[in-house]
Amino acid sequence: MPSYKELLYQFKEAIEKSDLAFNTAKLYLYELSLKSDINLYLNFDEEADPALSNEFKEGMQRLLRNEPLAYVLGYRWFYGYRFKVNSDVLIPRDETEELVAFILTKSDEFFKDKKEIKAVDIGTGSGAIALSLAKEDKRFEMSATDISEMALAVAKENAQYLDVSVDFKVGDMLQPLIENKESYDILISNPPYIPQKEVIADSVKDYEPHVALFGGNDGLAYYEKLLSEASKILNEKALIFFEMGWNQGAAISKIAERYFPNCHYEIRKDINGKDRMFCLEINS
Ligand code: GLN
Repeated sequence: MPSYKELLYQFKEAIEKSDLAFNTAKLYLYELSLKSDINLYLNFDEEADPALSNEFKEGMQRLLRNEPLAYVLGYRWFYGYRFKVNSDVLIPRDETEELVAFILTKSDEFFKDKKEIKAVDIGTGSGAIALSLAKEDKRFEMSATDISEMALAVAKENAQYLDVSVDFKVGDMLQPLIENKESYDILISNPPYIPQKEVIADSVKDYEPHVALFGGNDGLAYYEKLLSEASKILNEKALIFFEMGWNQGAAISKIAERYFPNCHYEIRKDINGKDRMFCLEINS
């Protein structure tokens, strides 16, 4: 039996010929070792566990074909929590953790003395945003919707695993909320926002659900839909948060001004210095 180090380096050549980063393979081995309670750094030169070895070899074949690590592992860490993911849901991105942090600080200021904050996450996917918010701030009473029943099944499993209660509803955008005549303090969405014809990485295009990625010709279709109907489900004092593409700030601001004239809005950059988050304050 090879050592863990030899196991990893067996794939060196194949990795060099592929699009896979060596560090991703290393991270994969590390995550598998965590699962088996093995301290990889102390045991790197020890004989590899046979079951782990087999799992690693099988998973490496998938990684070498460009399948994202999160799908191979079956989970992704997000805001310190472990989220189950599969090909029915978008893999939560690091940028979206920044959106969660922004929502938490902004709502703290905006709803200073409020004891309960009713928020809804539209197009929740794995539930990453909704469940992290519910975990981080007990005042958040969360609802979440998705058009995909399969995605909601994953989100529900995550809610159970993380032990939080979220009111899940299946349906297109705000439709299920409008039908129930619900009203909220915060509307949140990381909708599909990639323009239909944009060229994206194969690992994304070939594996992640297109229903969660593409937002019409200009990528703006869902912002228009959400902003046009938002007033039907929001309280008089409310916040809207979006994740968005790096070059969509001006266009989204324009749509927001059309439906909410004179409302204050703010655009925030992500850690890479790219416009990524949009927040609209409603105080009518
Ligand atoms: N940020 C994602 C990506 O670049 C897109 C997510 C989305 O469309 N909401 O792949």
